[in-house]
Formats: sequence, C-alpha cells, structure tokens
Amino acid sequence: MFRSSTSPDITILGAGPIGLEAALYALHCGYSVRVVDQAEPGHHLDQWGFVRLFSPFSMNHTPLGSKLLTSLGHRLPPDRAYLTGREHREAYVLPLAEWLSRRVEWLMGRRVVAVSREGLLKGEALGRPERAEAPFRILLEDETGREQVVHSPVVIDATGSYSNPNWLGDGGIPAPGERALRNRIHYHLVDIAGQEKKRFLGKTTLVVGNGYSAATSIVALSRLMEKEPRTRAVWLTRTTGQVPILPIENDPLEERARITRQANQCVQQPGVRWIPGGMVHALQASRGGRKFLVEIATTKGMETVEVDQILAQVGYSPDHRIYRELQVHECFASLGPMKLAAALLSDGSTDCLTQSSAGPETLKNPEPNFFILGMKSYGRNSHFLLRVGFEQIRDLFQLLTGEAQLNLYQEPVPTHFAPVQTIGKSCS
Ligand SMILES: Cc1cc2nc3c(=O)[nH]c(=O)nc-3n(C[C@H](O)[C@H](O)[C@H](O)COP(=O)(O)OP(=O)(O)OC[C@H]3O[C@@H](n4cnc5c(N)ncnc54)[C@H](O)[C@@H]3O)c2cc1C
Repeated sequence: MFRSSTSPDITILGAGPIGLEAALYALHCGYSVRVVDQAEPGHHLDQWGFVRLFSPFSMNHTPLGSKLLTSLGHRLPPDRAYLTGREHREAYVLPLAEWLSRRVEWLMGRRVVAVSREGLLKGEALGRPERAEAPFRILLEDETGREQVVHSPVVIDATGSYSNPNWLGDGGIPAPGERALRNRIHYHLVDIAGQEKKRFLGKTTLVVGNGYSAATSIVALSRLMEKEPRTRAVWLTRTTGQVPILPIENDPLEERARITRQANQCVQQPGVRWIPGGMVHALQASRGGRKFLVEIATTKGMETVEVDQILAQVGYSPDHRIYRELQVHECFASLGPMKLAAALLSDGSTDCLTQSSAGPETLKNPEPNFFILGMKSYGRNSHFLLRVGFEQIRDLFQLLTGEAQLNLYQEPVPTHFAPVQTIGKSCS
C-alpha cells in the first residue's frame, strides 16, 4: 500500500518498549522499518531504572519478543518476576534492540523536532487523497545540533511522555517563581535511597502528587529517616480522604498494593507531614538559594513551608510540538488523540489493570497514516500499561495490513508471515 523506494515503509519515533515491539511486529509483517530515538533504546526506562515495575514480567513482554530472544539463547526472567526498570531494560529491551538494530534503519541520538507533510501545510488538503500521498517530512537533530530531514509514508509516534513533565503550580500552570527555579526542582523520579541519597539525607523534602511516583518517593524518604532521623518530608496531595492514595480493593498487582500501603503508612511516621487538599501557590529561593520557600493554598488557608528539595511528581504530558503541523485531533482534557481519549473517558475505570486496547478504529487520526502508540497515546492519563500498548500494536497492524483477524501474538501465526529467524536483512 505504501511502498517507497527512498524511505522505509514505516518510521517509528521512540525506541522505548512500545516502539521496539512495534518495529519487531512490522518486520514480521514484511515492512521495512526505521527507528529513531533522542538517546538510546529504553532511555526513559533507564531514567527511572531504580523503580520496581508493578506489573510482573509476564505482562511486560510479548510472545514475539520472548520467542526471538529465547531462540537467540537469552535466558529471560521468570514470568512472575517483578523487575526494576533497569533490570527489565537489561534483560529484555536491550537484547531486543540489539537484534533490531541490525535489521532496521537505526537512528539513535536523534531527537525528533517535528513532523509534517511534504509540500502541505496543516490546514491543506483536508480529507483529500493528496494528503495521504505526500510523504511525511521528519526533522531530526543530533546532540551537536546537526539537522537532518528524513521521509516516510507511515509514522508511528511512540515517544512517550516522560520527557515532558507537568508544571507544579495551582491549576497546572507554573506557580510564580517556578520557572526561574525549574532547574533546581526535580520533575522526574529521583533515586532517593540510592545514588542521590546525599541530597536528601537529613534534609526536608516537599513531595507533591498522589500517584505511584509520589508514593515511591515518600517510601524512599521514610527509609532515609530510619538512617538519619533529621530527614523530613512534607507530602502535599490534592486528595483529601482518609489516606493520601486510595488503595484498589483486592489489588491483584501485589507490587502496586505494597507501594500504596507503605506510602499511606508513612504519614503516621513522625518525620512525614501530610498536607491534604493543597496546591502550590508560589515559590521562591531562600537562604542564599540553598532552600525554597513554598506558599501552599490548603483547605484551611495559606501556609508557607521551607524545604531543601522539591519533588514535583505531578505527571507528564505528551509533547504535541512533534505533530503540531499535522491534522491530529487532541482531546481537550487529556491531550491524547481524540478517538482513543473518548474511549478512555467513557470507560471511566480507575484501575489501569481493567483497561485493554480500545480497538483499531481508535488509533486513527484525521492525519492518514500517522499513529500515536504507547504511553503517549494516553495523553495525561496515567493508566497506560505495556500490555495495552502491545494490544495497540496488534490492532495497528490489522489496520495497516488490512487483515482484520491478524494477531501475531497468538499461536498459530499465519504461515504467510515470516518466522522470526528469517526476517529482515542485516543492515550492518
Ligand atoms: C515510574 C514508572 C513506572 C511504570 N511502571 C509500569 C509498570 O509496572 N507496568 C506497566 O505496564 N507500565 C508501567 N509504566 C507505564 C509505561 O508502561 C512506561 O512508561 C513505558 O516505558 C512506556 O513505554 P513507551 O514505549 O510508550 O514510552 P517510553 O518508555 O517513554 O519511551 C519513549 C522513547 O521515546 C524517546 N523520545 C522521546 N521524545 C523523543 C523525541 N522528541 N525524539 C526522539 N525520541 C524521543 C525516549 O528517549 C524514549 O526512549 C510506568 C511508568 C513510569 C513512569
């Protein structure tokens, strides 16, 4: 359908777990593939590598990936294992990437700046065939600033959202003072009990957020309190219930249940002060720039706390600058692609485990042959699970191949799809 002599059939933006699995699936279907990443494969996993995944290994890999690696002699972790991000990357993601790197056009260390249609502006050729016929034009930049344009008939954006954290301030916009201090605020997970211990030991840290990232941080801080009792934490949440994080009843994911339970127990600890129902109103540097004065709007009025560190664990947003010039319909609430976002909103579930892919049709954008998969497809919704991403890949290739029943994750694989050992030419 979209063969091109000058570019691969499909360009995948992002070599995270979903981008790589999509590349593997595409090769099985006989497509030629390009994979682009701003850094290295599994870069985001590596950034939060000290955190234990709350889903077991069985949920974090595909039958295609595991069959390939086993056939190459890799010993995979047991299905029931709860790995850290780094362990998962080393045991599964990197070996998969290594194999792919010799079979696809492999562009690591290239940031995707923007994607457009060659010769067409955003508002042009609306719903007309010329739009689908014009190749995508993708601007890349390496770390030295060198720019490069590549083309592709199909683009899969699997760049995640971890690179694009939300602001800390009330209402999701920067609190006054926040932008000036943003290089000193931690917007990502920090290895508090490990490599970064010195920054937090004996210090007071403000943790903002009521998700699993905030829970992970507060539990790590409480561990430091056992070593150094002067360590303090102020935990600011927007929730106002009995506990900061509402546990999921009979949670089948033991690791998620454990972190929720431990975080909620932390608020009983003398070193932890929980401020429920609060938002950061403003902040400024204090004590010659060594500390922060943070003004917090609480249910009881304004309050100011002085802290040494701020952990802003308030979620991530998709970077829509990549597809700003394309015809992508974004959800006004989640910033995810509209069709999928609508399906997720109508689902209304609070437990990500109950989610599944919303079907091939929800992956379509007004922009033909541009697809958003993985964490990024959920926009600001934090319920994305790798398992859902694998289902999205299956659904997408049903769309691209026109074979509505195609499912390479299920045995038996149709015989006209190549077996794993023979696919892809070596590019090295
Ligand atoms: C702390 C944490 C714990 C999680 N635990 C679980 C869990 O237990 N189970 C589960 O199923 N899910 C979990 N998730 C959710 C989700 O599965 C992961 O975030 C997963 O890494 C998403 O995979 P992805 O491939 O969609 O995106 P990512 O892993 O985020 O990969 C995106 C890739 O795109 C690259 N990239 C980004 N921007 C650009 C650009 N402009 N140009 C080029 N490349 C770019 C990045 O370098 C990265 O390699 C967790 C998420 C977090 C943050």
